[in-house]
Amino acid sequence: MPKKALIVIDMLRDFVEPDGKLYIGPTAKGVVEAISREIEKARSCRWPIIYVCDTHSKDDPEFNMFPPHCIIGTPGAEVVDELKPHPGDKIIPKRRYSGFFQTDLDLTLRELDIDEVVLVGVCTNICNLYTAADARMLNYKVTALRDCMSSFDEAAHKFALKEMEQTLGVTVV
Ligand SMILES: [Zn+2]
Repeated sequence: MPKKALIVIDMLRDFVEPDGKLYIGPTAKGVVEAISREIEKARSCRWPIIYVCDTHSKDDPEFNMFPPHCIIGTPGAEVVDELKPHPGDKIIPKRRYSGFFQTDLDLTLRELDIDEVVLVGVCTNICNLYTAADARMLNYKVTALRDCMSSFDEAAHKFALKEMEQTLGVTVV
């Protein structure tokens, strides 16, 4: 039996709340509700739940491209109230798009004997896509839940799901 984990990407106030620094837009609300249901399912199946969270320093070079967001220690860098981690859930800070880039994510998954990851979160064409890509490069089986993903750019959202499915071999459902 493959062992699965649910990976919740960047469901942080700065992306998801209307007054956040890099709000993805009104689709965020539906995504929060859908992810909440997936988290409940994962808990009932006893899958590990891993939160991968953008965590930037004040002068992060990423801010040459995007407005400052998810700065360490600020409310904007916190997981939204509706999806708060429980004790025992894993929280992996990241500084770049991919949840695997110079983080503990791969080691954490290996320690838990996980070979399949289910991805949810925001935004589809940035952190979700590049996390999916690295997961596939590392030979994990990957499922992406389309109703649990969103972007500020609807065309890019669609492109990213297609890219995941057709180029990366992700199961998109
Ligand atoms: Zn960022």
